[in-house]
Order: sequence, then structure tokens, then C-alpha cells
Amino acid sequence: MTLKVSCPQCQKTVIWQASSEFRPFCCKRCQLLDLGEWADESHKISVPIPVDSAISQEMLDAMEDDILLNNNFFVEPE
Ligand SMILES: [Zn+2]
Repeated sequence: MTLKVSCPQCQKTVIWQASSEFRPFCCKRCQLLDLGEWADESHKISVPIPVDSAISQEMLDAMEDDILLNNNFFVEPE
């Protein structure tokens, strides 16, 4: 009996065996795509949304640094 799984990315059938090195993904590309999505998701969660006044100045500074690092178009106001 052969155990088969569906690639979480493209739903292609993957045979669960030692030679299927990217299982449960069909290929390295699908594996990387999935990891990328996961990383994006965790990044969103790690950036707090200021919803109340309990946000400290440190957190605001950290968010600002994050914006500066991730946004090359950001220009400091004069
Ligand atoms: Zn796939």
C-alpha cells in the first residue's frame, strides 16, 4: 500500500516515501511558498496595531523603526 497525500500548495498528489524529500509538498517551490506565507502571517501578528493608549512609546518607536526598515519610500517630515 502506498500512502499518498495532497500537496498543501497545489493539491498535486505526492507519494509519501523517502524520495519525496519535500513531502507533504510536491516540490521545493511549493514548500518555500508555504513557508513564505507562514512567515508573512507571523510578521503581521508580531506588529501590534495601536488600538488603545496602553501602547508605550517604546512600542511606537519599535514600529517606526520597522516601518523605516521596510519602507524605502518613507521620508522624514521636515
Ligand atoms: Zn505542489
